[in-house]
Amino acid sequence: MRLILLGPPGAGKGTQAAFLAREYGILKLSTGDMLRSAAQAGDEFGENLRQVMSSGGLVADSIIIDIIRKEVSGDGCAKGFILDGFPRTVVQAQALDTMLEEIQCGLDSVIELVVDHDALVERISGRFSCDGCGEGYHDSYKPLKKEGICDVCGGVHFTRREDDNAQTVAKRLRAYQEQTAPLLPYYEKKHMLRQVDGMLPMQQVEERIREILAHL
Ligand code: ADP
Ligand code: AMP
Repeated sequence: MRLILLGPPGAGKGTQAAFLAREYGILKLSTGDMLRSAAQAGDEFGENLRQVMSSGGLVADSIIIDIIRKEVSGDGCAKGFILDGFPRTVVQAQALDTMLEEIQCGLDSVIELVVDHDALVERISGRFSCDGCGEGYHDSYKPLKKEGICDVCGGVHFTRREDDNAQTVAKRLRAYQEQTAPLLPYYEKKHMLRQVDGMLPMQQVEERIREILAHL
């Protein structure tokens, strides 16, 4: 199964991608996670990435396309993948089409999570994750069951993203409207786009996605 999750920052793509990866045994490819780990390398390339990401802008298409090309053609993707955070521009979507043609694979579905602007800001400002296993949490919507301890791995160290501050969030939402929202008509014309009400609680969003996938 090859899927794309689309939606603005904070819509719940990472949350649902983690669920889908577990449920269907396919690889989650999150370009945000890949870039955050590359940005920690301490070299010049990493520093440039960090600066772009903390400004709320998008990393150059050529960089991200190279990263995804290696992943998509790798063995780990043989069973399929869920893309979270890619494509983010029409150029990236076109490059993905070419990559998939080259390995003679098609996309099964593009699922858009539709969420109100105010809810996005609230979700982003309450988000944190476990340093040990990466599990995502939210202060109100998915709090830790035991204070200070990760439900999944028992880790005690957590991180709030540097770019999850009010100023950067406004820029990231603008980048989404200007550069990523044009992908919606792009995939609609290909009859691949399905919309899910991302305002619903997480388990209900999972259920809606399951229903879509059951009909593929
Ligand atoms: P994205 O990957 O699209 O940026 P995340 O999956 O990281 O978004 O979700 C952003 C925050 O909102 C996280 O803290 C997550 O726990 C929370 N969240 C995700 N889906 C929902 C939902 N349906 N309802 C409420 N909170 C949610
Ligand atoms: P995310 O974790 O998806 O919210 O992404 C965090 C940041 O990484 C974004 O604000 C961008 O700066 C960068 N990024 C992630 N994916 C892409 C992409 N496909 N194209 C360009 N920049 C990206």
